[in-house]
Amino acid sequence: MDITRKRILVSGGAGFIGSHLCEKLLKEGNEVLCLDNFFTGDKSNVVHLLNDPYFELIRHDITEPFLAEVDQIYNLACPASPVHYQYNAIKTIKTSVMGAIHMLGLAKRVHARILQASTSEIYGNPTIHPQEESYWGNVNPIGIRSCYDEGKRCAETLFMDYHRQHRVDIKIVRIFNTYGPRMHPQDGRVVSNFIVQALRGEDITIYGDGTQTRSFQYVDDLIDGMVKMMESEDFIGPVNIGNPHEFTMLQLAEKVIELTDSKSKIKFMPLPMDDPKQRQPNIELAKQVLGWTPKIQLEEGLRNTIDYFQKIV
Ligand code: NAD
Ligand code: UDP
Repeated sequence: MDITRKRILVSGGAGFIGSHLCEKLLKEGNEVLCLDNFFTGDKSNVVHLLNDPYFELIRHDITEPFLAEVDQIYNLACPASPVHYQYNAIKTIKTSVMGAIHMLGLAKRVHARILQASTSEIYGNPTIHPQEESYWGNVNPIGIRSCYDEGKRCAETLFMDYHRQHRVDIKIVRIFNTYGPRMHPQDGRVVSNFIVQALRGEDITIYGDGTQTRSFQYVDDLIDGMVKMMESEDFIGPVNIGNPHEFTMLQLAEKVIELTDSKSKIKFMPLPMDDPKQRQPNIELAKQVLGWTPKIQLEEGLRNTIDYFQKIV
């Protein structure tokens, strides 16, 4: 056995972010075990990796225990778009909470380092701006987003308690809105929705008046930040990984229309319950401790994403 080659498990590895992560880890000379139940992910996202002898694709639901000898675990399994995580809210909580317990139990047993893909949603509808890691958030515990937000908050608690109680080697990354190739065309998230609508010449659906903001990070920057976090020493996080450039949904719609040269018109629709009004990461901690900053700005990232959707839509 090659002892320099790490054996790395990626739960949710056939999803949007997971597939890019598997690709990067393989490129860096590691062995990758990709675990997925294919709820929102798809084999097509990793089909190009199947011929690599160091890549294994395993159909598994992390609400059930899993055992394998690994050195590192990236825990990404969880539907991420509101449409998908609300489709079966109880299952979403089970995936976040029971999934975290199973992955942490595995890390404890085999002494693996484990990284949790947490989210800016743990800040809820934030009352401070931009959001820094010390902020505890403003989250509705009984709303339609709660299955995701509270599930992810509980997962962070579990990570901290496995660390305190069992000395498990943990890392927590709070991911802000990320976009790029291999987003599911029907997953309902704003970047994929707007691009698909613009390419088809359909109305661009803005929820509310479009003044709410998000800060969009291109997937390659996120993967770079996650791997840097995993490889860092003496730092467990939580750390924000996101691009601080903030845009209103109206600005995003206009940019997508311009870049696709689309004839689509903007259509305003009701704002979903508990939709956060604004979101922007403070990334000072990631800069200082990881030496990480995002490199790809919205226009370049959108062009790459539009190229991808042009091929599949
Ligand atoms: P995605 O839906 O494309 O990927 C999630 C993957 O997990 C899918 O392949 C899905 O099939 C799999 N999965 C879901 N439930 C599972 C289960 N019980 N067992 C095994 N596999 C399961 O979403 P994504 O955008 O790639 O998100 C990946 C992770 O990053 C998620 O944990 C999400 O919460 C987190 N995140 C994403 C964003 C973003 O903007 N994309 C922002 C914050 C956090
Ligand atoms: N949104 C929108 N039109 C859409 C999809 C989403 O205006 O077709 C809005 C949504 O209400 C939210 C923002 O875009 O204010 C980001 O939504 P997304 O689901 O991508 O991410 P999240 O709300 O989880 O940050």
